[in-house]
Amino acid sequence: MSEKKETNKNKNSELRQDIVTGDWVVISTARAKRPDEFAKKDHEETDDNIDDCLFCDPVKSGQEKDTLIYNTSDGDWSLRVFPNKYPAFSRPAGGIIKHKEEGPYFWMESIGYHEVVVTRDHKKHIALLDKYRVAEILDAYQDRYIDLMNKRSVNFIDVFHNHGKAAGASISHPHSQLMAIPVISPYVRGELEGAESYHKMNKHCVYCAMLEWELEHKKRIVFESDNFVVICPFASRANFEMWVLPKKHKPYFERMSVDEKVNCGEALNAALNKLFKGLNNPDYNFYIHTSPCDGKDYPHYHWHIEILPKLNVWAGFEVSTGIEIITIEPEEAADFLRSQ
Ligand SMILES: [Zn+2]
Ligand SMILES: [Zn+2]
Ligand SMILES: [Zn+2]
Repeated sequence: MSEKKETNKNKNSELRQDIVTGDWVVISTARAKRPDEFAKKDHEETDDNIDDCLFCDPVKSGQEKDTLIYNTSDGDWSLRVFPNKYPAFSRPAGGIIKHKEEGPYFWMESIGYHEVVVTRDHKKHIALLDKYRVAEILDAYQDRYIDLMNKRSVNFIDVFHNHGKAAGASISHPHSQLMAIPVISPYVRGELEGAESYHKMNKHCVYCAMLEWELEHKKRIVFESDNFVVICPFASRANFEMWVLPKKHKPYFERMSVDEKVNCGEALNAALNKLFKGLNNPDYNFYIHTSPCDGKDYPHYHWHIEILPKLNVWAGFEVSTGIEIITIEPEEAADFLRSQ
């Protein structure tokens, strides 16, 4: 390991390009740390008073009615979904969308749906569940996705999960969120355009091309099963970034079969568990990137989950250019995570 460190120290920084979006990242290992030195030092528990937890008993805490609830055989609930009490997007009152012009500016109500997916156990975050429980979470995402995608004015659904304060989780009880909105994420738009133009030039899906290379060379694989692969992407935007990808070309997350959900649950759980063990429970976000639900077809897109650990802070260069600097090579990050 110390030899490797020396090599990295003498190495010039690298600029790597994301072949889907064309975005650049910098890999600068000059101040190289060993992978385990990225671990969260003093693991502070978030202010964690179970008695006051809004999600341990959503009914008591006055959440709106559930849109979905899964029960266990002993009559307790295992997962529930309900509208966010403080939605960023909500339904228009009386079905009319308010909008206004003000000089050169235009304003409109942020309409849509904002729901919360809560699992039963306050302490058991996804890294600590088994693959069937994680598949149940994916099943809830899919169930709500299919319902919301057909609502009026919904063109895109973002499904995401914040773990830890630095990742934006204001309530420590494990929960994910769905936002069904009228506009398409610029980030996904970039990927859609990249996938489209790569297909035009190469008659092949750009994600399938990456997968074929990764599976052959095995430099950045963290986990692999029959149907799913977890990799540290070539042009990672964060230290220890991971992507969970279906091996077969699939544009639409919401079309996953029951078996695929279990396989995907296993892969997501493995990735998060390796992060948890290797880096002492760091904060992270994960989210699903899938084709928009705007009525168009996206045959050349390949849905996936991105996991972004919160180990680096965006400083002036990142904020001003959008080019991120990471300090561990994705190959070394994958090596380390794979061995956990
Ligand atoms: Zn709780
Ligand atoms: Zn593909
Ligand atoms: Zn993506």
